[in-house]
Amino acid sequence: MANLEKRELLYEGKAKKVYLTSEDDKLIQEFKDDATAFDGMKKGTIGNKGEINNAISSYLFEYLENYHIPTHFIEKISSNEMVVKKLQIIPIEVVMRNVAAGSLCTRYKIPEATIMEYPILEYYLKNDELHDPMINEYHAYAFGHATPDEVRAINRIASKVNAILKFFFDRRNLILVDFKLEFGKRNNEIYLADEISPDTCRIWDKKTHKKLDKDRFRHDMGGVEKAYLELRDRIINA
Ligand code: ADP
Ligand code: UDP
Repeated sequence: MANLEKRELLYEGKAKKVYLTSEDDKLIQEFKDDATAFDGMKKGTIGNKGEINNAISSYLFEYLENYHIPTHFIEKISSNEMVVKKLQIIPIEVVMRNVAAGSLCTRYKIPEATIMEYPILEYYLKNDELHDPMINEYHAYAFGHATPDEVRAINRIASKVNAILKFFFDRRNLILVDFKLEFGKRNNEIYLADEISPDTCRIWDKKTHKKLDKDRFRHDMGGVEKAYLELRDRIINA
């Protein structure tokens, strides 16, 4: 990537900036320290989050590539930047759940930490104005976001990612409670995109159930940066 130049800002989101580059098919994702929750109602920063999330996401994408998961990840080029394949993002958030937490508990009145007998896969429309409403695969077809074949590919990748990462975290005495994935298309291929980080996953210590993710920020639990750093070290230096 020695000659890749960062060009104009393509998009600034809540947690990342995305830049065009000197190569048409590559983008640079820059991870910010900004944090938001509850549809952007709660705003703040988490010290060193950009670097921590870039480190964790880069590590996990590379790990998943070893298991033949197609990801957008190309290379980590600085503490808070990675080069990725430019994709046409499918505006659907795919959530996988192994243990009850967050909106699942409120929607279905299930106590937090209830272990699911089978992983749950959910789709939400990526639309802040509508507060990311839950949808099913027929909405995805009807709204023209994905074809049945694409949804099949997404489900297959999401299930495989869950199986791989569940064991990955278990070996580090961590529980992968739930997580959100985004997918994109290029040349009729589906790739895993965006990020996999404590902003987008719930991860607990296996013994104590201590939360090592954005729930600490959402619910003002304190020790947010410390928890993100602990998670990074338990993932990368294991
Ligand atoms: P949000 O848009 O939810 O505020 P971010 O701050 O994380 O999210 O911004 C990153 C944006 O970049 C997201 O909209 C995401 O869908 C998009 N994105 C992630 N990976 C790629 C990619 N490989 N190609 C194009 N866009 C991407
Ligand atoms: N999630 C996310 N972005 C969103 C919504 C959810 O990354 O816009 C992640 C969240 O961090 C958690 C999982 O998806 O790991 C399930 O979130 P849930 O539906 O419980 O919603 P929340 O409680 O975050 O509103």
